Amino acid sequence: MSHNPVRPWRNIERRKSRRIMVGNVPVGGDAPISVQTMTNTDTSDVAATVAQVQRAAEAGADIVRVSTPDAAATKALKEIVRESPVPIVADIHFHYKRAIEAAEAGAACLRINPGNIGDEKRVAEVVKAAKDHGCSIRIGVNAGSLERDLLEKYGEPCPDAMVESGLDHIRILQDHDFHEFKISVKASDVFMSAAAYQQLADATDAPIHLGITEAGGLMSGTVKSAIGLGNLLWMGIGDTLRVSLSADPVEEVKMGFEILKSLGLRHRGVNIISCPSCARQGFDVIKTVEILEKRLEHIKTPMSLSIIGCVVNGPGEALMTDVGFTGGGAGAGMVYLAGKQSHKMTNDQMVDHIVEQVEKRAEEIESAGAVEAAE
Ligand code: SF4
Repeated sequence: MSHNPVRPWRNIERRKSRRIMVGNVPVGGDAPISVQTMTNTDTSDVAATVAQVQRAAEAGADIVRVSTPDAAATKALKEIVRESPVPIVADIHFHYKRAIEAAEAGAACLRINPGNIGDEKRVAEVVKAAKDHGCSIRIGVNAGSLERDLLEKYGEPCPDAMVESGLDHIRILQDHDFHEFKISVKASDVFMSAAAYQQLADATDAPIHLGITEAGGLMSGTVKSAIGLGNLLWMGIGDTLRVSLSADPVEEVKMGFEILKSLGLRHRGVNIISCPSCARQGFDVIKTVEILEKRLEHIKTPMSLSIIGCVVNGPGEALMTDVGFTGGGAGAGMVYLAGKQSHKMTNDQMVDHIVEQVEKRAEEIESAGAVEAAE
């Protein structure tokens, strides 16, 4: 996916994993690394939950998870699934009945740990429901809720204990001849999470769901996730991810994409390259970028835009972008199209003009792609 023969230092060799399906979204194998988020509405409030799912999907979420803690939630799930543009994962803890209800309601995947739902009969019932309704399962090991026997064995939560827990849950599913599963081993500690994921990647070929749990607020949580998930993704580990933030699910989706975009693993929307600005700037770079980010949110076509304050770096960056603007003197700057110097534009009309140019370029890229696909 990110194989680059010209610039081999950009290549990421992805770990080979099995491919499973979460509804119509493939996870694992060569499938694009999918971005997930989770709703924080009351699931039984169908309208509010569907609205949040739709906003997340509009921002690019491939898969959305909802909590189903009680029967009212699994009842609402049916309608949520019907209205959702993306596959829905039902999040279940302990209650095997909720899992069966969620499968019947059309959940594409159940997030449940089979070792925590009781006796053999219950596990068999849940697995049967998942098989009958085409559900996959995510085993979600969390450092904060490890099984007591593992905590006694290891003394405290640690990567070994997390991986052992994960493999125990895997074994239970395999014993029931169930193989459509993926797995996560999340911790709020970046080191613990990264070490657990690395061990897990060697121990199974199941697709891996990445996440740093309880990462924090928008800024601190994003930095933590970018370090933890970024390192793992760079090593080729990870088939799907969620950036967990104490923030709007839409922000989680945006941050997930930014991490993948930084590593060249997914491309979506306008990648803005901008300078930090300094006394040489020919226009207000920071304010302009802030406005352009908002005004270009609707563009989904992968493309690049350089917004650079002056000629020190402007022409060089513009060479490598679809659209570029470099500040100049006398209240005007230079517009670059497809890497070539094109025409001058005054600073006061520049934002509208750049938005127009980006929209035009996005259309060109889309129609060229459509022609290529038809050939
Ligand atoms: S590109 Fe120009 S304006 Fe921007 S930081 Fe560099 S020197 Fe300053």
